[in-house]
Amino acid sequence: TISMKCSHLDHLCGDDSELSYLCLPIVAHGDTVGLLHIRFDVHQSPCCDDNQFDDARRFAMQCAEHISLAIANVKLRDELRDQSTRDALTGLFNRRYFLDVMRSEIARAQRNENEFGLISFDADNFKVFNDNHGHDAGDVVLREVADCMRSLFSENEVLSRFGGEEFSILLPGATATEAFEAADRLRAAVGALNINYGGKRLPTITISGGVASYPADGKFVQDMLNVADKALYRAKAEGRDKMCRSSDLTLATSDKAY
Ligand code: GH3
Ligand code: MG
Ligand code: MG
Repeated sequence: TISMKCSHLDHLCGDDSELSYLCLPIVAHGDTVGLLHIRFDVHQSPCCDDNQFDDARRFAMQCAEHISLAIANVKLRDELRDQSTRDALTGLFNRRYFLDVMRSEIARAQRNENEFGLISFDADNFKVFNDNHGHDAGDVVLREVADCMRSLFSENEVLSRFGGEEFSILLPGATATEAFEAADRLRAAVGALNINYGGKRLPTITISGGVASYPADGKFVQDMLNVADKALYRAKAEGRDKMCRSSDLTLATSDKAY
């Protein structure tokens, strides 16, 4: 037993000899995540009796161990779930999770007769960018694009890295116009990013994308992805740094080469 009082008990006034307690660290995977603090009533056993105090301490340590294990398990489960739904480079949701969310969003929108928007976009000329500045610089750019997405979109909008330099966003409740406007704001914001790498400013990066809207552009995940993809290719064909939507596809498609 230590006669010094723990600093977290400083606010307790009165006679220190009246204080009998245990502080047991709660450790999960090597990290201290908490402290189990047990205070005994000095006027009752077991604090007055050394044997009883030892018994109580052993029991408290067993409790702390059980709590530590339970917390470690919950943390591990959360970490594993995170690893299976998130992209490691950007921290955005991965493709598999995004497709799951799209499926449930379609079901929900159908039930509530609601709309939602889908934005698919892709970094322009990214192969050349990697060739000129290296893969690491490319990775930094992808992370900056993800940060830019996080800064522009809210918690209930689902941000994902679909794969490579391609990203998708689901906008619950958004009309076709709102989704397109959000996509174009993102395009402008990415184009305005100043990204430094290795003490040097990297050249401007741009994105092109396609916007699809539920239910106008399709009632199934694949239909919506196809429309967004076609619109994305149209944006590329029209010179990049551009967002297109389904109405852009019906206009004079035949005289555009793509
Ligand atoms: P476009 O404007 O038509 O999209 O041209 P692009 O060069 O971006 O398209 P392309 O599909 O030819 O090349 C994609 C490039 O993206 C090639 C690949 O190396 C790069 N890329 C994909 N994933 C990553 C990544 O995780 N990190 C980095 N640095 N580059 C990546
Ligand atoms: Mg690209
Ligand atoms: Mg691509």
